[in-house]
Amino acid sequence: MDAKVLIVIFAFAICLVNANISGTNPPNGACLCVSASGLNVRGSACGGRVGGARSGQCFTYKGRNSWCSLSGRSWHFFNFNFNGRDGWAAGNYLTIGSASRCGSGPPPVGNCGRIISRAGWGARPPRRVGRMRTPVSMVFVHHTAGPFCSSRSACAATARNTQRYHMNSRGYSDVGYSFLVGEDGMAYEGRGFTTVGAHTRGYNSRAIAISVMGNFMRRTANAGAQRAIQDVIACGISRGFVRSNYELFGHRNGGCTACPGDQLYNTITRWPRFSRRRIPRYC
Ligand SMILES: [Zn+2]
Repeated sequence: MDAKVLIVIFAFAICLVNANISGTNPPNGACLCVSASGLNVRGSACGGRVGGARSGQCFTYKGRNSWCSLSGRSWHFFNFNFNGRDGWAAGNYLTIGSASRCGSGPPPVGNCGRIISRAGWGARPPRRVGRMRTPVSMVFVHHTAGPFCSSRSACAATARNTQRYHMNSRGYSDVGYSFLVGEDGMAYEGRGFTTVGAHTRGYNSRAIAISVMGNFMRRTANAGAQRAIQDVIACGISRGFVRSNYELFGHRNGGCTACPGDQLYNTITRWPRFSRRRIPRYC
């Protein structure tokens, strides 16, 4: 093989490695990997942002693509499985990766798998939804100061009771917290990552709140619940709803309350992102 042929093959190989997928028609199920440092993931072609992805993250193509116009420019958008929901992104920032990068192994960051959706625990629909600007940079830990639960059925029932109490007795539009966590090791989606909450006066529109079901004045939450709190945060980071350099607080840091209980509070003060910064307390 002469040198010219080798150069052509080499150049072609480089081309393949770097080729973005705009203008192409990848096979359904292809592994699409992010080549930009930060990628807006949208709910439809040129639609609203539903999250973000980082360079090197890969997602399974769902076989649908569409041209659309954004800021006067034409873009070729591709539909992929974005942590269980529909994600769309411009092909200019995607490349084809090897199938193993979209395999069944653990996701590169975050763990959204231990979050039970509202439908999964029988939540009532909210009366109103206020959109929150994301990503947020603050996360508050609460306790419900109510009953403990340690099985899926008991925790789902406790989540429903908490929602009923918030909606019927306190007049909230929905359960107040972004997420509830049980000592069954699962998180229960409340208002989620993108809806303004009713949990931490002064911070409801710029923080998410994770509330462990139970009263943690005299003992801390079990290992499963602690892991579930951290899973929710990691999931939020992986989806672009929580900043990776977020600050963690207990409710008592921002309000006049014993929440999240002395013992659970002691626990979270030892976590790496717990913030010693003094923030205004709204009492
Ligand atoms: Zn609280």
